[in-house]
Amino acid sequence: MSTTTAAIGPLVEAIRTQLPGLRMLTDETDRESYRLDETAYLKAGLPGAVVLPTETAQVAAVVRLCGEFGVPMVPRGAGTGLSGGAAGIEGGLTIAFTAMDRIVEIDRENLVAVVQPGIINAALKAAVAAEGLFYPPDPASYEMCSIGGNLGTNAGGLCCVKYGQTRESVLSLEVVMADGTVIRTGGKNVKDVAGYSLTHLFVGSQGTLAIITEATLKLRPAPPPRSTMLAFFPTLDGAGDAVAGIAQAGLSPVTLELLDRFTINAVDEMNGLGLDRTAAAMLMIESDAPGVAATDELARAEAVCRTAGATDVVRAADAQEADWLRQARRAAHYALERLGEVRMEDVSVPRSRVPDMLREVEKIAERHHVRIGTFGHAGDGNLHPDLVLERGDPDGEAKTDAVRSDLYRAAMALGGSITGEHGIGTARRAWLEEQRGADAVRVMRAIKTALDPQGILNPGRVL
Ligand SMILES: Cc1cc2nc3c(=O)[nH]c(=O)nc-3n(C[C@H](O)[C@H](O)[C@H](O)COP(=O)(O)OP(=O)(O)OC[C@H]3O[C@@H](n4cnc5c(N)ncnc54)[C@H](O)[C@@H]3O)c2cc1C
Repeated sequence: MSTTTAAIGPLVEAIRTQLPGLRMLTDETDRESYRLDETAYLKAGLPGAVVLPTETAQVAAVVRLCGEFGVPMVPRGAGTGLSGGAAGIEGGLTIAFTAMDRIVEIDRENLVAVVQPGIINAALKAAVAAEGLFYPPDPASYEMCSIGGNLGTNAGGLCCVKYGQTRESVLSLEVVMADGTVIRTGGKNVKDVAGYSLTHLFVGSQGTLAIITEATLKLRPAPPPRSTMLAFFPTLDGAGDAVAGIAQAGLSPVTLELLDRFTINAVDEMNGLGLDRTAAAMLMIESDAPGVAATDELARAEAVCRTAGATDVVRAADAQEADWLRQARRAAHYALERLGEVRMEDVSVPRSRVPDMLREVEKIAERHHVRIGTFGHAGDGNLHPDLVLERGDPDGEAKTDAVRSDLYRAAMALGGSITGEHGIGTARRAWLEEQRGADAVRVMRAIKTALDPQGILNPGRVL
């Protein structure tokens, strides 16, 4: 596989000539805003040019030209990724999907939405909600991130514990392959086992196997408004036991989120919610079951929490208060950012091992004399230990490396994963083989080589 970035000049000229209607940014200041995603501490290249297509035919033509000139490309949604997946490649071409953001169709009869990749998750949710429908995937960044990025990363979020990651809500895709061919992986039918499931392969492949230009997504009838409960625990272990206990009790809350003491304090400081700042951990548990079933589900979850040692359990007074609490949880990362430079991690373990992982995080913080605020989608066993460095710490990079290594090793030792939803990108590439094994990575490379023999689709990401 060989690519050349020196060819960006001739490529830009060819795009100007052959696609005069395509918006392209070549000014350095403009290109600079496409260098990084939200993984700001990673080093990334400056794209040689950025194109903003509005239709699939333009994407296909650009991809063909990149192949002709051997220029690497980076598909990019909103750039909120936390693995460096959409970060720039020096002298490469970034294809930004911001302007390809139409809802093609909301099909009520079949409960599907057909969308272009640039649409923001919250905009899609709002549009289908207006029709009495629901698109479940809800990353905490849902007001900023795009569906294309969600598909690229197989994004998770707060309600995956009940409705699954993005992949569970995808019926089919339209994609542009590395040679510019456009294919569809399926249709609106719920059942379809014709051939390999390319849909499942492309979702989560971070733009390394194909570029998504349209998605057919599953919708559901809108569930009832959520009932929300907070449970405070004097120990992390207690909260971890409650998470495992709720799953074992067969409950399926729509949200089961955890915040540790450090994060509770940061969130409360920022939002003034009156949370119990002395608690070692807090669980946020929500039910969207209909009618009395929600009351019953939360009552059973409360019983599990009390058995696990919860000292205080409170319900949101009304929908508005519940909304404030949810927004505060979504902003946990930004609350921690007020305290220093944050490096967000994304480990995932089997649910029963959540207490063990929480203990490991505490030990790692002590071992390296650093502050780590942990929060995340505990109901999925997916935790975000955020390393909070003093601003300008000269040893920040070394501490980050050491903490990340220990977190990854701990997660793997517990049978878990180095990333639950953010993806390998460039940030975790060095660790993939240790988790998956050389043979599995060889299979991945074979797929990559077969689909992208020139190595021009987001090279250096994932593999
Ligand atoms: C505060 C905060 C909270 C977050 N919370 C969550 C969370 O709860 N759950 C979660 O999963 N993530 C979360 N994230 C991470 C991020 O928002 C998600 O990974 C999101 O899916 C990225 O979407 P994006 O549009 O910003 O994609 P980008 O960052 O632009 O791209 C992400 C990846 O998708 C690829 N891609 C983009 N568009 C396409 C396309 N059309 N075709 C093929 N590949 C494409 C890119 O190449 C890249 O590899 C959070 C981030 C922040 C900053």
